[in-house]
Amino acid sequence: MELQFDLIVIGAGSGGLAAAKRAASYGAKVAIIEVNKVGGTCVIRGCVPKKLLVYAAINKKNMISSEGYGLKSEGISFQSDILLKNVREEVSRLSGLHKNSLDKFNISIFEGLGRFKSQNELEIICPKTNKIIKKISSEKILISVGGKPKKLDIPGKDLAWTSDDIFELDIFPKSILIVGGGYIACEFASIFRNLGTEVTQLIRGEKLLNGFDEDLSSCLEEATALAGINLITKNQLKSIESINGKLEATLESGNKIQTNNILIATGRVPNLDPLNLDFLKLKMDGPYLDVDEFNQTSNPNIFAVGDIINKPNLTPVAIEQGRVFSDNFFNSKKRKVNYEYVPKAVFTIPEISTVGLSEQKAKEIYSKENIEIFKCKFTPMSNTFKENKSKCMLKIVVNKITDKVLGCHMFGETSSEIIQMVSISLNAGITKKEFDITMALHPTISEEFVTMYS
Ligand code: NDP
Repeated sequence: MELQFDLIVIGAGSGGLAAAKRAASYGAKVAIIEVNKVGGTCVIRGCVPKKLLVYAAINKKNMISSEGYGLKSEGISFQSDILLKNVREEVSRLSGLHKNSLDKFNISIFEGLGRFKSQNELEIICPKTNKIIKKISSEKILISVGGKPKKLDIPGKDLAWTSDDIFELDIFPKSILIVGGGYIACEFASIFRNLGTEVTQLIRGEKLLNGFDEDLSSCLEEATALAGINLITKNQLKSIESINGKLEATLESGNKIQTNNILIATGRVPNLDPLNLDFLKLKMDGPYLDVDEFNQTSNPNIFAVGDIINKPNLTPVAIEQGRVFSDNFFNSKKRKVNYEYVPKAVFTIPEISTVGLSEQKAKEIYSKENIEIFKCKFTPMSNTFKENKSKCMLKIVVNKITDKVLGCHMFGETSSEIIQMVSISLNAGITKKEFDITMALHPTISEEFVTMYS
């Protein structure tokens, strides 16, 4: 007997969970299919465990660099096994909470892989035996299966880790080569280095974090050098070999790097293969599912949210897409996701945060002479008695004609907390004059945002 639902959600990550709960709150009979732990990339192998590792790295960095504040750093040791075990336990606890919250909404959870049989029917497959466990059907099906790491197609690629593997480790490696210059590569380079691992980072271009405001990239490059990360630019990984218990990476230049481990962080791709979608001939947008502004695919019964569509692949974006989908299709509330000012952070140490247009993008859109830049870079007070005098940077991008603030960028401790709040004012259409008449809160780093005049 096939079970019949009003909505089947495939993938219990941030977007899927949000959609399922919102639809159930309107009285819909909802099922959710998940092959791994409930929680998805963010909770299980992304934002949450990563941020816990970041806190460990910040704490260690502060402990060993605070002698000027009268704090002795002798005897400090870092036991990565304790940290990794605690992180795993916390992830399991959070996954349990998410599972319980589904029970509270009377959402049926099916463990296994979801596979399309028709546009309304799904088979749930046991990943171990490949056998069909159940068949369920629904008028509406939401795909929210997320992404998976994209590995480089080179000899020896299976010897390298992806970010998923990091959270399965028992201890941290002594040395690591990190390939890539995006979010994941930069965050892990910072975590590992600040917790004592020797780190080499390899990028194919000239700059870290392509697409971000170039001043942010430059600040990160300075911090990368200060932290002792060996950054190799304009080179590519050609092959990996295992030699005498170590890994040897051969680069396109012919240079070889011996290291304990290699992390490949060269982007992520939608994890659509297990779904058996081909026969449905859904319209694609490159590797992503093509959806309209209501997250509907080219098949009116099938919807998609999260990292499988070509929108910012970020947790809050997926959650909002999920909620908007359910509001629209289970409560007739026609609303759309606001993609205009999506704040972003890269949790390096110090962290990078940004909202709105970069200087480069603003000049491209509005032309150079119509853009005014306000910028300051200084040693934050918290580093006064530290040997490592890393600087922070704040920047405002303004449209000279309208005075509208187009972008705010910050490199420095707690910048993510600050930019989250700044993004409210950008969404409300704030002008530079309104920044200027706002009273400063002293002594803080963020007061510079309202006192910059040149
Ligand atoms: P990114 O897209 O951020 O970065 C990919 C990196 O890999 C870039 O430096 C890119 O170089 C490089 N690259 C791509 N292809 C190749 C190749 N063939 N050879 C060499 N280098 C290559 O991907 P990530 O994997 O870091 O992260 C995936 C996504 O996860 C992010 O886009 C983000 O949406 C999300 N994420 C968000 C986080 C946050 O919000 N803090 C944290 C972690 C992930 P180039 O610049 O030259 O193209």
